Amino acid sequence: MARNPVIQEILKRYTQVWALGHSMAVLGWDTETHMPERGARPRGIASGQLAMLSQKATTDLDGLVRKAEKAKDLDDMEKGVVRVLRRSLDYYLKIPPELVDELQRVTTEATVVWRQARKNSDFKLFRPHLEKIVALERTVADRLGYEKHPYNALLDLFEEGFTVRDADAVYSKLVPASKKLLTKVTEAGIYPSKHPLELARYDTDAMLSVNEGAIQLLRMPADRFRMDVSTHPFTTQIAHDDVRITTRYEGKDFKASLFGTVHESGHAIYGLGISEGLAYTPLGDGASYGIHESQSRFWENVVGRSRGFVRLLRPVLSKNLQFVKKYNDEQLYLYFNTVRKSYIRVEADELTYNLHTAVRYDVEKKVIGGEVKVSEIPSLWNDTFDDYLGIRPRNDAEGALQDVHWSGGSFGYFATYTLGNIVAAMIWHKMKDGAFVQDALQEGDIVGLKSWLGKKIHRFGMTYSPKALQQKVFGEAYAPQRLLTYFERKYLD
Ligand code: MG
Repeated sequence: MARNPVIQEILKRYTQVWALGHSMAVLGWDTETHMPERGARPRGIASGQLAMLSQKATTDLDGLVRKAEKAKDLDDMEKGVVRVLRRSLDYYLKIPPELVDELQRVTTEATVVWRQARKNSDFKLFRPHLEKIVALERTVADRLGYEKHPYNALLDLFEEGFTVRDADAVYSKLVPASKKLLTKVTEAGIYPSKHPLELARYDTDAMLSVNEGAIQLLRMPADRFRMDVSTHPFTTQIAHDDVRITTRYEGKDFKASLFGTVHESGHAIYGLGISEGLAYTPLGDGASYGIHESQSRFWENVVGRSRGFVRLLRPVLSKNLQFVKKYNDEQLYLYFNTVRKSYIRVEADELTYNLHTAVRYDVEKKVIGGEVKVSEIPSLWNDTFDDYLGIRPRNDAEGALQDVHWSGGSFGYFATYTLGNIVAAMIWHKMKDGAFVQDALQEGDIVGLKSWLGKKIHRFGMTYSPKALQQKVFGEAYAPQRLLTYFERKYLD
Protein backbone atom coordinates (compact mmCIF):
# COMPACT_ATOMS: atom_id res chain seq x y z
CA MET A 1 0.00 0.00 0.00
CA ALA A 2 0.99 3.61 -0.53
CA ARG A 3 3.15 5.29 2.14
CA ASN A 4 3.12 8.81 0.75
CA PRO A 5 0.26 10.79 2.41
CA VAL A 6 -0.69 12.62 -0.82
CA ILE A 7 -0.95 9.31 -2.69
CA GLN A 8 -3.00 7.91 0.21
CA GLU A 9 -5.41 10.85 -0.12
CA ILE A 10 -5.57 10.38 -3.91
CA LEU A 11 -6.39 6.68 -3.53
CA LYS A 12 -9.09 7.39 -0.96
CA ARG A 13 -10.81 9.82 -3.31
CA TYR A 14 -10.18 7.66 -6.36
CA THR A 15 -12.67 5.09 -5.00
CA GLN A 16 -15.43 7.26 -6.50
CA VAL A 17 -13.86 7.13 -9.99
CA TRP A 18 -13.41 3.39 -9.56
CA ALA A 19 -17.09 2.96 -8.58
CA LEU A 20 -18.26 4.85 -11.69
CA GLY A 21 -15.96 2.73 -13.85
CA HIS A 22 -17.31 -0.37 -12.15
CA SER A 23 -20.91 0.69 -12.96
CA MET A 24 -20.07 1.48 -16.58
CA ALA A 25 -18.39 -1.92 -16.92
CA VAL A 26 -21.55 -3.68 -15.73
CA LEU A 27 -23.69 -1.62 -18.15
CA GLY A 28 -21.28 -2.32 -21.00
CA TRP A 29 -21.37 -6.03 -20.25
CA ASP A 30 -25.18 -6.01 -20.18
CA THR A 31 -25.34 -4.07 -23.49
CA GLU A 32 -23.50 -6.91 -25.22
CA THR A 33 -25.10 -9.87 -23.45
CA HIS A 34 -28.70 -9.27 -22.35
CA MET A 35 -30.04 -5.83 -23.35
CA PRO A 36 -32.93 -5.75 -25.86
CA GLU A 37 -32.21 -3.71 -29.01
CA ARG A 38 -34.29 -0.69 -28.06
CA GLY A 39 -32.45 -0.38 -24.78
CA ALA A 40 -29.62 1.19 -26.78
CA ARG A 41 -30.84 4.79 -26.62
CA PRO A 42 -31.44 5.00 -22.84
CA ARG A 43 -28.23 3.04 -22.29
CA GLY A 44 -26.39 5.64 -24.36
CA ILE A 45 -27.83 8.47 -22.27
CA ALA A 46 -27.01 6.74 -18.98
CA SER A 47 -23.47 5.89 -20.12
CA GLY A 48 -22.92 9.48 -21.26
CA GLN A 49 -24.00 10.81 -17.86
CA LEU A 50 -21.81 8.34 -15.96
CA ALA A 51 -18.85 9.15 -18.20
CA MET A 52 -19.30 12.86 -17.42
CA LEU A 53 -19.46 12.14 -13.68
CA SER A 54 -16.30 10.09 -13.98
CA GLN A 55 -14.61 12.90 -15.85
CA LYS A 56 -15.58 15.36 -13.09
CA ALA A 57 -14.43 13.01 -10.31
CA THR A 58 -11.10 12.53 -12.10
CA THR A 59 -10.43 16.20 -12.85
CA ASP A 60 -11.17 16.98 -9.18
CA LEU A 61 -7.97 15.04 -8.42
CA ASP A 62 -5.79 17.37 -10.53
CA GLY A 63 -4.58 19.48 -7.60
CA LEU A 64 -3.55 16.43 -5.57
CA VAL A 65 -1.84 14.81 -8.55
CA ARG A 66 0.11 18.02 -9.16
CA LYS A 67 1.20 17.92 -5.54
CA ALA A 68 2.24 14.26 -5.88
CA GLU A 69 4.19 15.06 -9.03
CA LYS A 70 6.48 17.23 -6.93
CA ALA A 71 7.17 14.47 -4.40
CA LYS A 72 10.64 12.96 -4.62
CA ASP A 73 10.54 9.69 -2.69
CA LEU A 74 7.75 7.80 -4.48
CA ASP A 75 8.07 4.05 -4.98
CA ASP A 76 7.20 2.33 -8.28
CA MET A 77 3.55 1.81 -7.35
CA GLU A 78 3.13 5.43 -6.28
CA LYS A 79 4.86 6.68 -9.41
CA GLY A 80 2.51 4.45 -11.40
CA VAL A 81 -0.53 6.03 -9.75
CA VAL A 82 0.72 9.50 -10.67
CA ARG A 83 1.60 8.48 -14.25
CA VAL A 84 -1.74 6.78 -14.95
CA LEU A 85 -3.80 9.57 -13.42
CA ARG A 86 -1.84 12.20 -15.32
CA ARG A 87 -2.65 10.38 -18.56
CA SER A 88 -6.31 10.30 -17.74
CA LEU A 89 -6.27 13.93 -16.56
CA ASP A 90 -4.52 14.91 -19.74
CA TYR A 91 -7.38 13.35 -21.70
CA TYR A 92 -10.17 14.83 -19.60
CA LEU A 93 -8.73 18.31 -19.27
CA LYS A 94 -8.32 18.55 -23.03
CA ILE A 95 -11.59 16.87 -24.05
CA PRO A 96 -14.63 18.89 -22.92
CA PRO A 97 -17.54 17.05 -21.21
CA GLU A 98 -19.88 17.76 -24.16
CA LEU A 99 -17.50 15.92 -26.47
CA VAL A 100 -17.22 12.93 -24.09
CA ASP A 101 -21.01 12.82 -23.89
CA GLU A 102 -21.42 13.14 -27.66
CA LEU A 103 -18.90 10.36 -28.29
CA GLN A 104 -20.80 8.08 -25.93
CA ARG A 105 -24.17 8.78 -27.52
CA VAL A 106 -23.00 8.62 -31.14
CA THR A 107 -21.09 5.38 -30.66
CA THR A 108 -23.79 3.62 -28.65
CA GLU A 109 -26.30 4.26 -31.44
CA ALA A 110 -23.78 3.53 -34.19
CA THR A 111 -23.05 0.09 -32.72
CA VAL A 112 -26.69 -0.93 -33.18
CA VAL A 113 -26.74 0.43 -36.77
CA TRP A 114 -23.45 -1.31 -37.54
CA ARG A 115 -24.95 -4.67 -36.55
CA GLN A 116 -27.75 -4.16 -39.08
CA ALA A 117 -25.35 -2.86 -41.74
CA ARG A 118 -23.07 -5.88 -41.37
CA LYS A 119 -26.03 -8.23 -41.53
CA ASN A 120 -27.19 -6.68 -44.82
CA SER A 121 -23.67 -5.94 -46.04
CA ASP A 122 -24.81 -2.33 -46.48
CA PHE A 123 -21.99 0.16 -45.95
CA LYS A 124 -24.25 3.09 -46.94
CA LEU A 125 -26.43 2.46 -43.88
CA PHE A 126 -23.41 2.74 -41.58
CA ARG A 127 -21.64 5.52 -43.48
CA PRO A 128 -23.29 8.64 -41.92
CA HIS A 129 -22.61 7.23 -38.44
CA LEU A 130 -19.01 6.46 -39.29
CA GLU A 131 -18.56 9.94 -40.77
CA LYS A 132 -19.70 11.45 -37.46
CA ILE A 133 -17.37 9.16 -35.53
CA VAL A 134 -14.34 9.92 -37.72
CA ALA A 135 -14.99 13.67 -37.40
CA LEU A 136 -15.20 13.28 -33.60
CA GLU A 137 -12.02 11.19 -33.52
CA ARG A 138 -10.15 13.82 -35.52
CA THR A 139 -11.39 16.47 -33.09
CA VAL A 140 -10.16 14.33 -30.20
CA ALA A 141 -6.71 14.00 -31.83
CA ASP A 142 -6.53 17.77 -32.41
CA ARG A 143 -7.47 18.55 -28.83
CA LEU A 144 -5.09 16.01 -27.35
CA GLY A 145 -2.29 17.32 -29.53
CA TYR A 146 0.29 15.23 -31.34
CA GLU A 147 3.63 15.27 -33.05
CA LYS A 148 3.81 14.55 -36.77
CA HIS A 149 0.61 12.52 -37.28
CA PRO A 150 -2.88 12.93 -35.71
CA TYR A 151 -3.12 9.12 -35.50
CA ASN A 152 -0.34 9.20 -32.85
CA ALA A 153 -2.76 10.84 -30.42
CA LEU A 154 -5.24 7.97 -30.90
CA LEU A 155 -2.70 5.11 -30.89
CA ASP A 156 -1.45 6.37 -27.53
CA LEU A 157 -4.93 5.99 -26.03
CA PHE A 158 -4.70 2.20 -26.50
CA GLU A 159 -0.97 1.68 -26.20
CA GLU A 160 0.86 4.23 -24.08
CA GLY A 161 3.79 5.70 -25.96
CA PHE A 162 3.16 3.71 -29.17
CA THR A 163 3.45 5.78 -32.35
CA VAL A 164 3.02 5.62 -36.13
CA ARG A 165 6.80 5.32 -36.26
CA ASP A 166 6.74 2.23 -33.98
CA ALA A 167 3.86 0.72 -35.94
CA ASP A 168 5.55 1.34 -39.28
CA ALA A 169 8.70 -0.34 -37.94
CA VAL A 170 6.67 -3.39 -36.83
CA TYR A 171 4.60 -3.77 -40.00
CA SER A 172 7.39 -3.05 -42.46
CA LYS A 173 9.18 -6.09 -41.02
CA LEU A 174 6.16 -8.28 -40.36
CA VAL A 175 4.14 -7.87 -43.56
CA PRO A 176 6.73 -8.92 -46.18
CA ALA A 177 8.13 -11.68 -43.92
CA SER A 178 4.63 -13.04 -43.20
CA LYS A 179 3.77 -13.13 -46.91
CA LYS A 180 6.95 -15.13 -47.59
CA LEU A 181 6.38 -17.51 -44.68
CA LEU A 182 2.83 -18.09 -45.80
CA THR A 183 4.02 -19.14 -49.25
CA LYS A 184 6.64 -21.49 -47.75
CA VAL A 185 4.21 -23.06 -45.29
CA THR A 186 1.61 -23.55 -48.01
CA GLU A 187 4.20 -25.13 -50.32
CA ALA A 188 5.45 -27.46 -47.56
CA GLY A 189 1.89 -28.81 -47.38
CA ILE A 190 2.06 -30.12 -43.81
CA TYR A 191 -0.45 -27.72 -42.33
CA PRO A 192 -3.73 -28.19 -44.23
CA SER A 193 -5.80 -25.31 -45.58
CA LYS A 194 -9.01 -27.20 -44.81
CA HIS A 195 -10.12 -29.88 -42.40
CA PRO A 196 -13.29 -32.01 -42.33
CA LEU A 197 -13.91 -31.04 -38.68
CA GLU A 198 -14.65 -27.49 -39.83
CA LEU A 199 -17.92 -28.80 -41.23
CA ALA A 200 -18.92 -30.98 -38.28
CA ARG A 201 -22.04 -29.55 -36.63
CA TYR A 202 -22.21 -29.46 -32.86
CA ASP A 203 -24.98 -29.13 -30.33
CA THR A 204 -24.67 -25.87 -28.34
CA ASP A 205 -25.14 -27.59 -24.97
CA ALA A 206 -22.42 -30.10 -25.80
CA MET A 207 -20.11 -27.29 -26.87
CA LEU A 208 -20.89 -25.38 -23.68
CA SER A 209 -19.67 -28.46 -21.78
CA VAL A 210 -16.46 -28.46 -23.84
CA ASN A 211 -15.88 -24.78 -23.04
CA GLU A 212 -16.62 -25.42 -19.37
CA GLY A 213 -14.10 -28.25 -19.48
CA ALA A 214 -11.55 -25.90 -21.02
CA ILE A 215 -12.02 -23.25 -18.34
CA GLN A 216 -11.68 -25.95 -15.68
CA LEU A 217 -8.48 -27.10 -17.35
CA LEU A 218 -7.27 -23.50 -17.19
CA ARG A 219 -8.19 -23.46 -13.48
CA MET A 220 -10.49 -20.45 -13.75
CA PRO A 221 -11.81 -19.65 -10.24
CA ALA A 222 -15.59 -20.19 -10.20
CA ASP A 223 -16.17 -17.56 -7.50
CA ARG A 224 -14.40 -14.74 -9.36
CA PHE A 225 -15.24 -15.49 -12.98
CA ARG A 226 -18.21 -16.16 -15.27
CA MET A 227 -18.82 -16.92 -18.93
CA ASP A 228 -21.75 -15.77 -21.09
CA VAL A 229 -22.65 -15.54 -24.79
CA SER A 230 -22.31 -12.50 -27.11
CA THR A 231 -21.99 -11.76 -30.84
CA HIS A 232 -18.39 -10.59 -30.48
CA PRO A 233 -16.52 -12.39 -27.67
CA PHE A 234 -14.93 -10.09 -25.09
CA THR A 235 -13.64 -9.89 -21.52
CA THR A 236 -14.53 -7.26 -18.99
CA GLN A 237 -12.89 -6.71 -15.64
CA ILE A 238 -15.69 -5.52 -13.40
CA ALA A 239 -13.58 -5.74 -10.25
CA HIS A 240 -10.49 -7.50 -8.93
CA ASP A 241 -12.71 -10.42 -7.92
CA ASP A 242 -15.23 -10.23 -10.78
CA VAL A 243 -13.95 -10.88 -14.29
CA ARG A 244 -16.33 -11.94 -17.06
CA ILE A 245 -15.84 -13.39 -20.49
CA THR A 246 -18.15 -14.23 -23.36
CA THR A 247 -17.94 -16.71 -26.18
CA ARG A 248 -20.15 -17.60 -29.14
CA TYR A 249 -21.76 -20.70 -30.60
CA GLU A 250 -22.14 -20.87 -34.36
CA GLY A 251 -23.16 -24.53 -34.61
CA LYS A 252 -20.12 -25.78 -36.53
CA ASP A 253 -16.32 -25.60 -36.62
CA PHE A 254 -16.04 -26.02 -32.85
CA LYS A 255 -12.51 -24.62 -32.63
CA ALA A 256 -13.89 -21.08 -33.13
CA SER A 257 -15.98 -21.35 -29.98
CA LEU A 258 -13.25 -23.22 -28.08
CA PHE A 259 -10.46 -20.77 -28.91
CA GLY A 260 -12.77 -17.82 -28.31
CA THR A 261 -13.17 -19.21 -24.81
CA VAL A 262 -9.45 -19.88 -24.32
CA HIS A 263 -8.54 -16.44 -25.71
CA GLU A 264 -10.90 -14.56 -23.42
CA SER A 265 -9.81 -16.74 -20.50
CA GLY A 266 -6.27 -15.51 -21.20
CA HIS A 267 -7.47 -11.94 -20.73
CA ALA A 268 -9.29 -13.01 -17.57
CA ILE A 269 -6.22 -14.80 -16.16
CA TYR A 270 -4.33 -11.50 -16.50
CA GLY A 271 -7.05 -9.52 -14.73
CA LEU A 272 -7.38 -12.08 -11.97
CA GLY A 273 -3.60 -12.14 -11.49
CA ILE A 274 -3.21 -8.44 -10.77
CA SER A 275 -1.98 -7.89 -7.23
CA GLU A 276 -4.83 -7.52 -4.74
CA GLY A 277 -3.13 -4.43 -3.35
CA LEU A 278 -3.91 -2.65 -6.63
CA ALA A 279 -7.68 -3.27 -6.39
CA TYR A 280 -9.72 -0.02 -6.36
CA THR A 281 -6.64 1.95 -7.48
CA PRO A 282 -5.91 3.43 -10.93
CA LEU A 283 -3.43 0.55 -11.44
CA GLY A 284 -5.88 -2.34 -11.16
CA ASP A 285 -5.98 -3.12 -14.89
CA GLY A 286 -3.67 -4.51 -17.57
CA ALA A 287 -0.63 -2.45 -18.63
CA SER A 288 -2.09 -1.75 -22.09
CA TYR A 289 -4.28 -3.27 -24.80
CA GLY A 290 -1.20 -4.80 -26.43
CA ILE A 291 0.02 -6.41 -23.21
CA HIS A 292 -3.52 -7.60 -22.47
CA GLU A 293 -3.75 -9.15 -25.91
CA SER A 294 -0.37 -10.83 -25.42
CA GLN A 295 -1.93 -12.79 -22.56
CA SER A 296 -5.00 -13.89 -24.53
CA ARG A 297 -2.92 -14.81 -27.58
CA PHE A 298 -0.38 -16.66 -25.45
CA TRP A 299 -3.11 -18.91 -24.05
CA GLU A 300 -4.97 -19.20 -27.34
CA ASN A 301 -2.02 -19.87 -29.65
CA VAL A 302 1.16 -20.78 -27.81
CA VAL A 303 -0.71 -22.98 -25.31
CA GLY A 304 -4.08 -23.74 -26.95
CA ARG A 305 -2.94 -24.59 -30.47
CA SER A 306 -0.15 -26.88 -29.29
CA ARG A 307 0.11 -30.69 -29.26
CA GLY A 308 0.39 -30.66 -25.47
CA PHE A 309 -2.94 -28.88 -25.10
CA VAL A 310 -4.65 -31.28 -27.51
CA ARG A 311 -3.58 -34.14 -25.21
CA LEU A 312 -4.91 -32.36 -22.13
CA LEU A 313 -8.20 -31.49 -23.80
CA ARG A 314 -8.79 -34.88 -25.44
CA PRO A 315 -10.95 -36.40 -22.62
CA VAL A 316 -13.27 -33.35 -22.54
CA LEU A 317 -13.61 -33.35 -26.33
CA SER A 318 -14.26 -37.09 -26.64
CA LYS A 319 -16.82 -36.98 -23.86
CA ASN A 320 -18.92 -34.20 -25.40
CA LEU A 321 -18.35 -34.28 -29.16
CA GLN A 322 -18.85 -37.77 -30.61
CA PHE A 323 -17.50 -36.78 -34.04
CA VAL A 324 -14.07 -36.01 -32.57
CA LYS A 325 -13.45 -39.67 -31.61
CA LYS A 326 -12.34 -40.84 -35.04
CA TYR A 327 -9.51 -38.28 -35.19
CA ASN A 328 -6.20 -38.89 -33.46
CA ASP A 329 -4.30 -36.21 -31.54
CA GLU A 330 -2.14 -35.21 -34.51
CA GLN A 331 -5.21 -34.80 -36.74
CA LEU A 332 -6.84 -32.62 -34.08
CA TYR A 333 -3.65 -30.56 -33.81
CA LEU A 334 -3.76 -29.97 -37.57
CA TYR A 335 -7.44 -29.02 -37.36
CA PHE A 336 -6.52 -26.45 -34.69
CA ASN A 337 -3.84 -25.10 -37.00
CA THR A 338 -5.26 -24.96 -40.52
CA VAL A 339 -3.54 -22.23 -42.53
CA ARG A 340 -5.33 -20.31 -45.27
CA LYS A 341 -6.05 -16.86 -46.54
CA SER A 342 -9.48 -15.76 -45.38
CA TYR A 343 -11.54 -12.58 -45.23
CA ILE A 344 -12.50 -12.46 -41.56
CA ARG A 345 -9.91 -11.39 -38.97
CA VAL A 346 -11.44 -13.24 -36.03
CA GLU A 347 -11.27 -16.50 -38.00
CA ALA A 348 -7.72 -15.93 -39.23
CA ASP A 349 -4.92 -18.35 -38.34
CA GLU A 350 -1.76 -17.17 -36.58
CA LEU A 351 0.22 -16.71 -39.79
CA THR A 352 -2.26 -14.52 -41.66
CA TYR A 353 -3.65 -12.67 -38.63
CA ASN A 354 -1.18 -9.80 -38.67
CA LEU A 355 -1.87 -9.13 -42.33
CA HIS A 356 -5.49 -8.49 -41.31
CA THR A 357 -4.50 -5.92 -38.69
CA ALA A 358 -2.01 -4.36 -41.14
CA VAL A 359 -4.92 -3.64 -43.53
CA ARG A 360 -6.82 -1.86 -40.77
CA TYR A 361 -3.74 0.04 -39.64
CA ASP A 362 -3.18 1.37 -43.17
CA VAL A 363 -6.84 2.31 -43.63
CA GLU A 364 -7.13 4.04 -40.24
CA LYS A 365 -3.90 5.95 -40.67
CA LYS A 366 -5.17 7.36 -43.97
CA VAL A 367 -8.69 8.11 -42.70
CA ILE A 368 -7.50 9.86 -39.54
CA GLY A 369 -4.75 11.62 -41.50
CA GLY A 370 -7.47 13.00 -43.78
CA GLU A 371 -5.97 11.33 -46.88
CA VAL A 372 -9.17 9.42 -47.70
CA LYS A 373 -12.87 10.00 -47.09
CA VAL A 374 -15.16 7.61 -45.22
CA SER A 375 -17.01 6.87 -48.48
CA GLU A 376 -13.72 5.57 -49.93
CA ILE A 377 -13.09 3.11 -47.10
CA PRO A 378 -14.64 0.02 -48.75
CA SER A 379 -12.54 0.31 -51.93
CA LEU A 380 -9.36 1.25 -50.03
CA TRP A 381 -9.96 -1.73 -47.75
CA ASN A 382 -10.41 -4.13 -50.66
CA ASP A 383 -7.35 -2.86 -52.53
CA THR A 384 -5.12 -3.07 -49.45
CA PHE A 385 -6.51 -6.51 -48.58
CA ASP A 386 -5.77 -7.73 -52.09
CA ASP A 387 -2.25 -6.36 -51.85
CA TYR A 388 -1.49 -8.06 -48.50
CA LEU A 389 -3.44 -11.29 -48.76
CA GLY A 390 -3.87 -11.72 -52.48
CA ILE A 391 -7.64 -12.13 -52.24
CA ARG A 392 -10.42 -9.57 -52.60
CA PRO A 393 -13.51 -9.35 -50.32
CA ARG A 394 -16.69 -10.00 -52.29
CA ASN A 395 -18.82 -7.68 -50.16
CA ASP A 396 -18.48 -5.20 -47.28
CA ALA A 397 -19.70 -7.67 -44.64
CA GLU A 398 -16.54 -9.67 -45.27
CA GLY A 399 -14.61 -6.41 -45.85
CA ALA A 400 -14.76 -3.07 -44.08
CA LEU A 401 -17.92 -3.84 -42.07
CA GLN A 402 -16.72 -6.98 -40.30
CA ASP A 403 -15.43 -5.50 -37.02
CA VAL A 404 -17.33 -3.74 -34.24
CA HIS A 405 -14.45 -1.39 -33.30
CA TRP A 406 -15.14 1.64 -35.51
CA SER A 407 -18.78 1.76 -34.43
CA GLY A 408 -17.49 2.13 -30.86
CA GLY A 409 -15.07 4.88 -31.83
CA SER A 410 -12.01 2.67 -31.33
CA PHE A 411 -9.54 4.05 -33.87
CA GLY A 412 -6.02 3.00 -32.95
CA TYR A 413 -7.01 -0.35 -31.47
CA PHE A 414 -6.21 -2.89 -34.20
CA ALA A 415 -2.41 -2.59 -34.08
CA THR A 416 -2.56 -3.71 -30.43
CA TYR A 417 -3.73 -7.16 -31.59
CA THR A 418 -0.46 -7.57 -33.45
CA LEU A 419 1.51 -6.13 -30.54
CA GLY A 420 -0.19 -8.84 -28.49
CA ASN A 421 1.00 -11.53 -30.91
CA ILE A 422 4.51 -10.12 -30.80
CA VAL A 423 4.66 -9.92 -27.01
CA ALA A 424 3.18 -13.45 -26.74
CA ALA A 425 6.10 -14.65 -28.90
CA MET A 426 8.52 -12.68 -26.69
CA ILE A 427 7.11 -14.66 -23.74
CA TRP A 428 7.52 -17.90 -25.74
CA HIS A 429 11.14 -16.91 -26.38
CA LYS A 430 11.72 -16.07 -22.72
CA MET A 431 10.23 -19.48 -21.80
CA LYS A 432 13.24 -21.16 -23.46
CA ASP A 433 11.79 -21.01 -26.97
CA GLY A 434 8.66 -22.75 -25.77
CA ALA A 435 10.39 -25.64 -23.93
CA PHE A 436 8.96 -24.42 -20.61
CA VAL A 437 5.44 -24.45 -22.10
CA GLN A 438 5.86 -27.95 -23.53
CA ASP A 439 7.14 -29.31 -20.21
CA ALA A 440 4.33 -27.65 -18.26
CA LEU A 441 1.67 -29.07 -20.60
CA GLN A 442 3.33 -32.49 -20.50
CA GLU A 443 2.84 -32.47 -16.74
CA GLY A 444 -0.56 -30.78 -16.91
CA ASP A 445 0.95 -27.93 -14.91
CA ILE A 446 -1.25 -25.01 -15.98
CA VAL A 447 -0.71 -23.41 -12.57
CA GLY A 448 3.05 -23.27 -13.26
CA LEU A 449 2.45 -21.29 -16.45
CA LYS A 450 0.04 -18.98 -14.68
CA SER A 451 2.54 -18.36 -11.87
CA TRP A 452 5.31 -17.50 -14.33
CA LEU A 453 3.10 -14.93 -16.04
CA GLY A 454 1.69 -13.72 -12.74
CA LYS A 455 5.11 -13.11 -11.23
CA LYS A 456 6.66 -11.43 -14.27
CA ILE A 457 3.68 -9.55 -15.74
CA HIS A 458 0.23 -9.83 -14.14
CA ARG A 459 0.86 -8.68 -10.60
CA PHE A 460 2.12 -5.24 -11.65
CA GLY A 461 -1.16 -4.19 -13.29
CA MET A 462 -0.55 -0.73 -14.74
CA THR A 463 2.39 0.08 -12.45
CA TYR A 464 4.74 0.29 -15.45
CA SER A 465 4.10 1.61 -18.95
CA PRO A 466 3.92 -1.18 -21.57
CA LYS A 467 7.33 -0.29 -22.97
CA ALA A 468 8.90 -0.11 -19.47
CA LEU A 469 7.32 -3.43 -18.48
CA GLN A 470 8.71 -5.12 -21.60
CA GLN A 471 12.18 -3.69 -20.95
CA LYS A 472 11.98 -4.99 -17.38
CA VAL A 473 10.86 -8.51 -18.38
CA PHE A 474 12.49 -9.03 -21.79
CA GLY A 475 15.14 -6.32 -22.18
CA GLU A 476 13.44 -5.29 -25.45
CA ALA A 477 10.04 -3.98 -26.59
CA TYR A 478 7.68 -4.92 -29.46
CA ALA A 479 10.28 -7.12 -31.20
CA PRO A 480 8.61 -8.54 -34.37
CA GLN A 481 11.58 -10.88 -34.96
CA ARG A 482 10.46 -13.02 -31.98
CA LEU A 483 7.14 -13.65 -33.65
CA LEU A 484 8.78 -14.54 -36.96
CA THR A 485 11.12 -16.99 -35.16
CA TYR A 486 8.17 -18.54 -33.35
CA PHE A 487 6.38 -19.01 -36.70
CA GLU A 488 9.44 -20.57 -38.34
CA ARG A 489 9.91 -23.01 -35.46
CA LYS A 490 6.28 -23.98 -35.33
CA TYR A 491 5.42 -24.15 -39.01
CA LEU A 492 8.68 -24.99 -40.81
CA ASP A 493 10.90 -27.05 -38.46
MG1 MG B 1 -8.57 -10.08 -27.15
